[in-house]
Order: sequence, then structure tokens, then C-alpha cells
Amino acid sequence: MSDGAPPPPAPAGRPLRVAVVGSGPAGVHTAGTLVAAGLPDGVRVDVLERLPVPFGLVRYGVSPDHPDMKAVTSTLADVLDHPDVRLVAGVDMGRDVTLDELRAAYDAVVLATGASTDAPLELPGVDLPGCWGASELVAWYQGHPEAPRTWDLSAREVAVLGVGNVALDVARVLARPARDLLATEVPAAVHEGLAGSALTDVHVVGRRGPEHARFSPLELRELGAVPDVDVVVDPADLVLTPEGVEHLAGDRRARQVVEALQGFAERGTTGAPRRVHLRFSRVPVEVLGRTEGRVTGLRTHRAHAGAAGVVEDLAVQAVYRAVGYRSRPLAGAPFDAGRGVVPNEAGRVLGADGEPLPGLYVVGWAGTGPVGLVGHTRKAARATVASLLEDVAREPAAAASAADPLDLVDRLRAGGLHVVDLDGWRAIDAAEVAAGAAVGRPRVKLVEVQELLAAARREGRA
Ligand SMILES: Cc1cc2nc3c(=O)[nH]c(=O)nc-3n(C[C@H](O)[C@H](O)[C@H](O)COP(=O)(O)OP(=O)(O)OC[C@H]3O[C@@H](n4cnc5c(N)ncnc54)[C@H](O)[C@@H]3O)c2cc1C
Repeated sequence: MSDGAPPPPAPAGRPLRVAVVGSGPAGVHTAGTLVAAGLPDGVRVDVLERLPVPFGLVRYGVSPDHPDMKAVTSTLADVLDHPDVRLVAGVDMGRDVTLDELRAAYDAVVLATGASTDAPLELPGVDLPGCWGASELVAWYQGHPEAPRTWDLSAREVAVLGVGNVALDVARVLARPARDLLATEVPAAVHEGLAGSALTDVHVVGRRGPEHARFSPLELRELGAVPDVDVVVDPADLVLTPEGVEHLAGDRRARQVVEALQGFAERGTTGAPRRVHLRFSRVPVEVLGRTEGRVTGLRTHRAHAGAAGVVEDLAVQAVYRAVGYRSRPLAGAPFDAGRGVVPNEAGRVLGADGEPLPGLYVVGWAGTGPVGLVGHTRKAARATVASLLEDVAREPAAAASAADPLDLVDRLRAGGLHVVDLDGWRAIDAAEVAAGAAVGRPRVKLVEVQELLAAARREGRA
């Protein structure tokens, strides 16, 4: 453990038993931190995952055209390879096992269930066909087992609401020539769908001025390098208010973002077949199309001084809401519905009375909401594990109190559940690489649960 490490827990005569629920980066780093802690009697960590495959949003969020980011998978796989860590995939806490059962079987349970759905957006017309949450589109192009297999890409112009990195991912994947995705792991049907897209223009729309855009400068600049796509920025959108200037002075990232936007504005267009327009200070007020029963436009009000209140309609046929991911409540666990997180203090889950619930912890996006990158989950894991070990040091695990978690997994299997272990995941991995090699691609993702389980059974258990 790093600085401020808690005292090691007193020996309990057997390893500490921890269940981590969720195998995204926060969950896997939690397992890694626990096994590296050097506990006197050791530790056994079971990493439960509802899908048959591990790694959460690293597999199903990080864009397929970001292969360098996807490479973090091998670091995470090394953690799962540790002899004291066990992958227990295909087990949904809530559907297959309850939180109470886990709390009875383990000394500590760490919720690392992330965020997988879209934050709600109050906007007239938001429920019209053709208006989707970004997470729905992302799940489709990532080949998430629970996403639809086809996607309507008949819109020529689309609006993306939000000015964060997910909005950029959505704009880039929609606008990028489909041939570029042949170098990635996207399922064949996704490549075919994107190849048939009618798209010409993506309008990324931000409510506030460019100084408040949450893009990372690197990802923004990357957009400018996408072939056959012009990035269009109206210089008038970059005129800052005095508050905007002050904001930039104290925020280096925001300055780099505005500089990149200025670069786009100066560069102008090249006549490329597709355009991504980055628009600021436009407050979406209605998704148009009630009469037609489908999206026909987006109405915005200009928020910029000089044009304040001016109505501007964009003639789009689809709208994507990229205004943040959100967690779903977990059966049996406290949930702060306002913030969409499991309430906690330094990773200790708080009950209704505001006091920590013994042996229950949270880490990653489930506890913070959708803020931070994969790299940040490692630090989050250290913080939660520090709280957990501090508590264990104060109240050592009773030698015989927890039922043996091995029984729990055996019981799940005996009940007919397909539990995928590490060998099973490795077999899925190998099958995807082989499917890619057959068509000259590095990997092609398997999509359906049944195909994933069939591949897992070839080498491991499922
Ligand atoms: C579209 C998108 C693109 C992104 N791109 C990047 C990027 O390029 N670079 C970067 O650094 N970061 C990126 N991020 C951020 C990154 O994905 C997150 O920081 C990180 O994944 C959060 O980790 P987590 O472990 O908390 O949650 P998650 O990755 O969401 O993992 C949670 C896991 O818990 C499982 N789970 C949920 N409920 C249950 C249950 N009841 N029982 C069992 N298991 C359960 C889920 O299936 C999932 O596997 C992106 C995020 C999104 C949404």
C-alpha cells in the first residue's frame, strides 16, 4: 500500500474473503490492490460479472477506434490471472445471487457495477422515435450482447447533445469512413451498418460557451485527423464573454480545447463528403417532429450575448443524448436517486441513517457517477481498499464466520447457471482473435451470449 496505508489486519487464521461485484477497471484494480496488499493470512477475491465477459466499459465503452486504450485489457487480464483472484462471470447480482447472500458468504463486498445507462434529459420530444441515448448507440456498435443487432442509420443529419468525450466518440464513429473500422474489433454487422449510413452532417451541440466544453484536447484534435471529414466551427461561437476569458485563465485543459477549436475555425473546410459541426451556446429546447411521429429537427435557443434568445432549428433526422451515463439502482443496496450513485464516504457504503454499512464498499463510477477515465479507477481502487483494510484491522474477519464462497459458486453452477471462469474468458479471447485472423482483422468480437458461452466452454467452464 502507498502512503497513509492502514495497519495490516490481525491474522484471522484464514484468508480474507472479498467479493467484487463488477469486472470493469475499478473492480479489477480493486482485486489487484487487495492481492498486492500483503495481508498476513492472504486474501481470496472473487470478481463477479453479470456478462459472460469481463472488463465493463473497457470492452463496451472505449471506442473501437482507440486500440491503444483497449490495450489496458491485458493489464486487467494479468490481475485476473493472479492465483488469489477468481473470475466469476455470467453472474448477475440481483438476478442470480442477492447482495445479502454475498454479504453472508464474504467478509467484504465491493460494488464496482459502474454506470451503463443514459442520464435522463428533460426536453419536449425527447421520447420521439429517432431520439436515442448515446449509450444505446455505443452498445450497438460495441456489440454488447443486450443491444439491438441493427441500427437505423438513414439520417442524413444528426444532432449530438453534449460536449464531452462520449459526444466526440459518437460523432467520430458516425462520421468516420466505415472502412477505417475494418482495422478494429467491431462485429461484421456493425461495419456493414455503418458502411450503408446516409450521413452527411453531425451537429455536436453545447448549451454553454466553448470554455465549458468537457472534451479532452487530445480527443478533440484527433477528430481533425479523421479522413474525409471536415470539422466545422463558426468563429462567432468562439467569442468569449469576460467570464469565459477568466475561466480559461485558470483552466489549462479548457484553454487547450479552445485553442484546438480556434484551429478548426481557421482551417475552414476542404469539401469533404462529411462534416462534424461543433456548436456552442445553443440551448436545446425541443426535439421537433411530434406531427410526423419521428425526429425532424432540433430547436435551440442561442445563449450567446448579442444573439441571446434567437431561435435556431437544425434540420436533423436523429438526435443522440450524450449528457452523461448513469448507474441503475442495485437490488438491496442504498442508492442516491438524485445523484445516481451508491452513497459512500471514502468507498464505505452509507445506509439510510448516513452510517457506513459493515463490510460493504463501492468503487468506480458506481460510487462517483460517470466522471474520470480508466486510469483514474486505479486510484479509486486504492482509496476503497484502504478503507476496507482499515475496517478489517479494527475488526478482524472472524475465522469461521463467513460461509465458504466456493460453495456459493458451486451452488450457482448446480442450479444450471453458466459461470465463466478465467479459462473460459481466455477461450473467448482466442476465438475472437481467430475470427479476426480469418478475415485479416486483429479481432472480431463475438456478440451473442450463446456464442460467447459456446466459445468459453471449449477451454474453460461455462
Ligand atoms: C462511451 C464511453 C467511452 C469511453 N472512452 C474512454 C476512453 O477512451 N479512455 C478512458 O480512459 N476512459 C474512457 N471511458 C471511461 C471509462 O470507461 C470509465 O472510466 C471506466 O470504465 C469506469 O469503470 P468502472 O469499473 O467503474 O465501471 P464499468 O467499466 O462500467 O464496469 C462495471 C461492470 O460491472 C458489471 N455489473 C453491473 N451490474 C452488475 C451486477 N448487478 N452484477 C454483476 N456485475 C455487474 C458491468 O457489466 C460492468 O462489467 C469511456 C466511457 C464511456 C461511457
